[in-house]
Parts: sequence; structure tokens; C-alpha cells
Amino acid sequence: MNCPYCRNADSRVVDSRVADDGVSIRRRRQCTSCTRRFTTIETASLSVLKQSGAVEPFSRNKVINGVRKACQGRPVTDHDLAILAQEVEEAVRTSGAAEISAHQVGLAILEPLSRLDEVAYLRFASVYHNFQSLQDFETAMQKLREQRSSSPKGTQRPLSAE
Ligand SMILES: [Zn+2]
Repeated sequence: MNCPYCRNADSRVVDSRVADDGVSIRRRRQCTSCTRRFTTIETASLSVLKQSGAVEPFSRNKVINGVRKACQGRPVTDHDLAILAQEVEEAVRTSGAAEISAHQVGLAILEPLSRLDEVAYLRFASVYHNFQSLQDFETAMQKLREQRSSSPKGTQRPLSAE
């Protein structure tokens, strides 16, 4: 990062803190040449290893696009999806790994999606876990019921009447 004032390439960090989004780091820097101060925002890179072997940067938009289809016709807003993608990113970043598998991203989607919308969750899980039979759905629904009955009151989102 060159100094924005004099273009000098060298600066020293005078302060670092985690930004409000929890994933990027805000650094206060001082130019070693003109001594003026400026701020940089750095986001730790996070790569996703796909089943094909390709590696691409983690993207919240990809998470949203992956989940959107399962949410068709459900009372799920773009805002809900944006929050879900943020939760997924926070979950996969807490592992601290610079590279995660697409499978881990899918796993990280399941939990917040089950809280957001049960039908969307079942649709997504059926594709993700490659459900083969009615029994697979029943097992997933049973797990969902157990989660519901064990989770404290107030955190539950009722299925809306359409
Ligand atoms: Zn400078």
C-alpha cells in the first residue's frame, strides 16, 4: 500500500484493530517518508476448494445464490439472506484456516438456514446431503424437531401461515 500523499511504498503500522464486520482489520499507518497518516482495511483471504479441484475466493454472494433457490416461495427476504451469508462467513472464518472446502461451506449454511426457514432448510439439505429416499427426509425432520424442542424459547421462528 503506497502512501496516498507522496506514493512512498514504505509505511509503519501505528494501530491495528478488527473492523466492525469482524473479519477485516483496520490499520492506521504512518508514511516513513512524509510522516502523514492513513488507514488501510485488510481482509484476510479465504479460499474455497471446490469438488472439481478449483480454488476460488470465498464469496457471500455465492452463498446467497446457493441458498436462494431453496428459498423460492418462502418468506425469506434478501436481508435475511445477507445476514445468513454473514453468519456463514463468520462461522467458516473462526476455523482460522486460509482454505476451506466447499463441503465445509455447505455445512456452515445448514445451521443458520434451519433457524431461518424449515422448508428451505429441508430443500437445501436434500440436495446437499443427496437425499435418496423419504426416510432421509424423515430423519432430517426428526433432527429439526429435536433442535426445536431443545432450543430455548424466543429463538424459534414459527413457520408463517401463507
Ligand atoms: Zn508519504
